[in-house]
Amino acid sequence: MLIDTHCHLDAREFDADRDDLMRCAESAGIVAIVVPAIERANFGAVASICRDYAGCAPAYGIHPMYVDQALPEDLDVLRATLMREPAVAVGEIGLDRHVSPRDDERQLYYFRAQLSIARELSLPVLLHVRRAIDPILHELRRIQPPGGIAHAFNGSLEQAREFTRLGFKLGLGGAVTHERAQKLRALAKALPRDAIVLETDAPDIPPAWRTHKRTEPADLLPIAETLAKLRGEPLTDFCAATSANALSVLPRLATFINPFS
Ligand SMILES: [Zn+2]
Repeated sequence: MLIDTHCHLDAREFDADRDDLMRCAESAGIVAIVVPAIERANFGAVASICRDYAGCAPAYGIHPMYVDQALPEDLDVLRATLMREPAVAVGEIGLDRHVSPRDDERQLYYFRAQLSIARELSLPVLLHVRRAIDPILHELRRIQPPGGIAHAFNGSLEQAREFTRLGFKLGLGGAVTHERAQKLRALAKALPRDAIVLETDAPDIPPAWRTHKRTEPADLLPIAETLAKLRGEPLTDFCAATSANALSVLPRLATFINPFS
């Protein structure tokens, strides 16, 4: 049993063969996939895909790389969507201090507002933390949303500890499958097992076997195999533990588990 805590299944890259990919994911033992939105314009697509495919669970939010086209009223639409739809989290939200050009103030405005919505609605958050871990931790300590996941985590053990103290799990995915990612692989070995959740971030963050290609949902199984081997743990134990971690931090996800996988 595997849970993908971060997959952009609504992405255009999957339009031609989404049915096939979902069948492959089911055969790989994936029982649930969290599908985070990135802006108001794709809330509808995320909702309808999660209605169409068993095991898919939506999250709604405005991604830091999409705040330039966002409007303050989108936050009202977000709140209304979260109250109407059976969402498992607010996401994907966060800060990105890598993209350029960027407007840090604008990113902060939308990030803070969405953390407050998460707190108000008692929903966990899915965080995009690229080159922005410390400013994100600062906002989490201040606004105190009810936990969540730091997706594609690539920070220090110290920062990981601070996230877990605040009720977060760390999302690990395709990046750890690259031999050259030595720092990240050392971290993936050192993290306590109850801190880890798995993700593909499909179609992004290609694992070692997909260079210059799209990442697919079924890639979660070889990602889990890589991590279990790296940590010296039996695969089934590692999959069961990380799935339990995902369910503990995203309690509403339990209602989305696909019983046919
Ligand atoms: Zn993402």
